[in-house]
Formats: sequence, C-alpha cells, structure tokens
Amino acid sequence: MMGKLFGLLGHPVGHSMSPAMHNDQFNQLGLSHYYQAFDVHPDRLGQAVNGIRALGISGFNVTIPHKVTIMEYLDEIDEEAKAIGAVNTVLNQHGKLVGFNTDGRGYVQSLQKVAGDALDKRILIIGAGGAAKGIYISLAVMGAKNIDLTNRTLEKAQELNRFCKHDLQSKVRSIEEAEKMLSHYDIIINTTSVGMSPYVEAVPLSLDHLKKGTIVSDIIYNPLETKWLSIAKHKGAIIHNGIGMFVAQGALAFEIWTGKKPDFEKMKLIVIEQLGG
Ligand code: NAP
Repeated sequence: MMGKLFGLLGHPVGHSMSPAMHNDQFNQLGLSHYYQAFDVHPDRLGQAVNGIRALGISGFNVTIPHKVTIMEYLDEIDEEAKAIGAVNTVLNQHGKLVGFNTDGRGYVQSLQKVAGDALDKRILIIGAGGAAKGIYISLAVMGAKNIDLTNRTLEKAQELNRFCKHDLQSKVRSIEEAEKMLSHYDIIINTTSVGMSPYVEAVPLSLDHLKKGTIVSDIIYNPLETKWLSIAKHKGAIIHNGIGMFVAQGALAFEIWTGKKPDFEKMKLIVIEQLGG
C-alpha cells in the first residue's frame, strides 16, 4: 500500500509527543505512513487546510489554539465533536474533511481501565476549560448520570452545565463546598492546569475529607504524579494520571485514520520515553 501522510496542526507544536507515538505504530504495523507536526499560526489556519486539501494529506490532529476554529473549515463534524464544540482529529475521506473529537472519549476509556463501572459512579469534575468540556460531554454521551462540577470561576462551570444537552442532574459547587463534601464522590477528576510543571507544589482542591478507595484522577501528565495525586495515594485513593488520556486520544485517532487498532501499551511507553523516562 502506498504510504500516506498525517499531521498535527498547532501553535506551538515543538514539544509534541504525537509524531513519535504515531510513527512508531505505523512502523510496528508495517504501514509506510508518516506523521509530521506543523506549526500553524492562527492567521494561517484556513490556508493550511487548503494546503491539506490540495496535497491530499490523509488526516490530521488539531491542538491548541485551533480546536474550535478548525470547525469552520471542515465539511462534516461528527455528533460527539459537535456536542463538545471542538475537534481534535480530522479524516480526509476522498476529499471530504470530517472532524471528530477523541479527547473526552479517550479520557473515559482510560478511566475505565481503573474503574470499569465509572459511568455508574458519583463523579466530581474540577475545572471548566477545554479539557473539562470534552470529558464532561463524553461522560454524558457515554451514559454517566451523576456528575457535579466545581471551578475557581463558578460562572464558567455554570456555563458548562448549561451547555450540556444531557440531563446529568449536575450540581455546580464552589471549591470550598466541594472540599467539604468530598466523601460523597467515588471519582474526582482534576482537569485544571493546577499542579502542572513548573508549579508542581500547587493543588487544585484540598483532599482533607477524601474517603479511602476513591478514584482520584488528574489529567496532567507533566509531572506524571502530581503533588495532588501523591497526597491522594497516601490517603488510600486509587490514582489515575493523564498519560492514559493522551495515549487513548491518539489511539482513537489512529483507528479513525487507519481502521487498525494500535498497540496501546507500546504507545504509552513511547510517550513516557518522550517525557524523559
Ligand atoms: P483551559 O481551557 O485554559 O482551562 C483551564 C482550567 O484550569 C480552568 O478551569 C481554570 O479555571 C483552571 N485554572 C487555571 N489556573 C488556575 C489556578 N491558578 N487556580 C485555579 N484554577 C485554575 O485549559 P485546558 O485546555 O482545559 O487544559 C487544562 C489542563 O489539562 C492542562 O494542564 C493540560 O495540560 C491538561 N490536558 C491534558 C490532556 C491529556 O491528554 N492528558 C489533554 C488536554 C489537556 P478558571 O475558569 O477559573 O480560569
């Protein structure tokens, strides 16, 4: 089979781990495809997409800051990406560019590896930014019924709650309120950037009232174990870091492009290697 070209559009893209992760899987599956990161300034996104059409590039990922603006340049957007309002994966279907979002679904799949019955649990999401939106909507689309939201800026959490078309009986709580009733939740997810390198001492929410056996999940992967996760582990929680989400969104994109299931564990190893061991 002739090799195909895939890419990543972002700004900046210098530290992206996606090329190494996808190229290794192309090799491993004997595909002569290639994945290349492209640094595209926001002013030139439309031109970049025209270039993709003209060159017949087979598919691409989209990252910050293009995940929302890319939508106006596509021919079709799948239902879940529409519900989330952002696209991170595009497939070139014989000249028709179709947008998907694999971030939220990838996260839920990785969460289900540690909590198979995650959708039946009482969930608290901390944060109301782009990542929170994908995770909240995908959890809803996949059948979760009981998700509360908390965020530093309460109005943004209320806005996210209104944006979701599914009935999740969600309560929007202040950080203080969420901290006090923490033992009510089975799964607590940090989607904020609090605790990310270089500010590794910061925590998004106090774990004083955490009950043993709770699943505590942080989508940050740099560091792999945030201060918050390490506190949770010492308090008897089951912890889940952000690497699974990153790998799973890539694995779902890989399947959309090639129709083949990649080797998840090998992808994870490559990403850990990229992160410096
Ligand atoms: P975003 O849209 O900018 O949202 C940022 C969120 O963090 C908001 O809820 C914001 O609260 C909160 N926040 C930021 N600084 C804060 C502070 N000092 N104190 C309290 N809250 C603060 O960002 P995003 O795209 O959602 O990304 C968020 C994090 O997820 C980043 O660390 C990113 O690396 C990570 N991420 C990981 C993956 C993965 O594959 N594992 C994928 C995507 C993102 P306000 O609303 O109050 O500003």
